Amino acid sequence: MPLVEVEFDSGVVTKACAAQLVRSIIEFLLYDRGQIPLPYASFRELVKSLTLPVEDDLPVRGADIKLRKERELAKQTVSTVDNLFETITKYVEHSPDIREVLILLGSTIYTAKEAFHVRMPDIDVNHHGINHVRDLKKDLMKLNRALITSDEFNSIRPVQLPTNVHVLIKALNIPPNVDEDVFTPLDDYEVPQKCPIFHVQLNSSANAAPLNCCNRLEVFQDNSFSEMVSALSDLETTTKTAETPECWLQLNIIPRGFNRCSALI
Ligand SMILES: [Zn+2]
Repeated sequence: MPLVEVEFDSGVVTKACAAQLVRSIIEFLLYDRGQIPLPYASFRELVKSLTLPVEDDLPVRGADIKLRKERELAKQTVSTVDNLFETITKYVEHSPDIREVLILLGSTIYTAKEAFHVRMPDIDVNHHGINHVRDLKKDLMKLNRALITSDEFNSIRPVQLPTNVHVLIKALNIPPNVDEDVFTPLDDYEVPQKCPIFHVQLNSSANAAPLNCCNRLEVFQDNSFSEMVSALSDLETTTKTAETPECWLQLNIIPRGFNRCSALI
């Protein structure tokens, strides 16, 4: 069972930190599993800077049409990944009891060729991400080092070509007002038998002393931030009362890999 286990040194995993950990693992997999030709930040910057050949130029050349189509696909990949990340961040803000994340590569979740199962650390909702940016940087470095240097993750690589990247989330309580345009609840989902599962276990520090930093420090808030926090705490109250059995929620935002380098030059 290929496993990467990471114990974070910082005493606190905030909601912002948890969302960023999930995003980092997806970014790592996109590049490591050949779904994009460059690390995500560089790929995103490059694709955003690309212009599309003008459609009504005459005479229309076949090569331009092809280039235009390929660049449109690259832009689609970036906007879908951005949208996915934004949704994950919002979800963790609203429902910080996220326990597991499953990232699947393959045409559909039922024909997945590789699965990455992430167990999340305990999230401390009493601390604010803004006060723990330095901890977050250290945690991300530790996570990335563990992923990059893992021999087990490199032991088998069944996925060779760009495919779909599916993300599923499991939380202790499913928010009662889950947006069905964004999520599909899956009652009995299991990873296909032939699909190898790679595990990532993230642990909060076992030895950290309890911190009360965020009780003492004044958190920077502008009005929109305060309004958002108050809306979220209302939502959290309703979430806690709605105990539901655990099930996977599939995000309906499904990026497709893109690796045609010739379209990016
Ligand atoms: Zn704190």
